[in-house]
Amino acid sequence: MAALFRDLRVSEQVLWRARLQRLIRRCAKEGLWTKEIREQPAGSEIGVWALDKPLLGLRAAHLIREAAIEQVTLHALQARGAGWSWDEIGAAMGLPTGGGDPREDTAYEWIVEGRDPDRASREKVGFPQTRWRCGCCEREIEDAGPFGSSPVCHEYGHADDCARWDESVREWGAARHRQFSGRGDQR
Ligand SMILES: [Zn+2]
Repeated sequence: MAALFRDLRVSEQVLWRARLQRLIRRCAKEGLWTKEIREQPAGSEIGVWALDKPLLGLRAAHLIREAAIEQVTLHALQARGAGWSWDEIGAAMGLPTGGGDPREDTAYEWIVEGRDPDRASREKVGFPQTRWRCGCCEREIEDAGPFGSSPVCHEYGHADDCARWDESVREWGAARHRQFSGRGDQR
């Protein structure tokens, strides 16, 4: 039976991803009035489709994710109505058997209670980080998340003369200053 997305063959993942990217761009164009553009990534000769406003791409992807979760529930309930068991639904979603809990329980918890079966293992990972490419200095940045800290403490890898980096460190300092002087006024 089908597997979790990460268990699919790489070639299948690429296909599913491409279908979804087309859908996201289409929804962003039709629902959020953004435009498709052709981008040329640094060091590549092949152009890729992107959106002129990345934040609207994020919004479209996020709305699709929420709507897709609703659809997962809807289809699971239709499958229950048509006679399939929670265990069979779990199998269709790629959940393994022989883990800690019975697959039927895990499927129910995932769909009805919104408890992602992977979350427990993810929480054990110490300090998760993510990476993105800075559009200003074009370096790859490691981002450990804000959590009230200065970009100096959680964004690593900008070029020394990156203007965006300078700006975000300055902005963080100014915001902190406003926060503390604001508190001072209230006393
Ligand atoms: Zn930078």
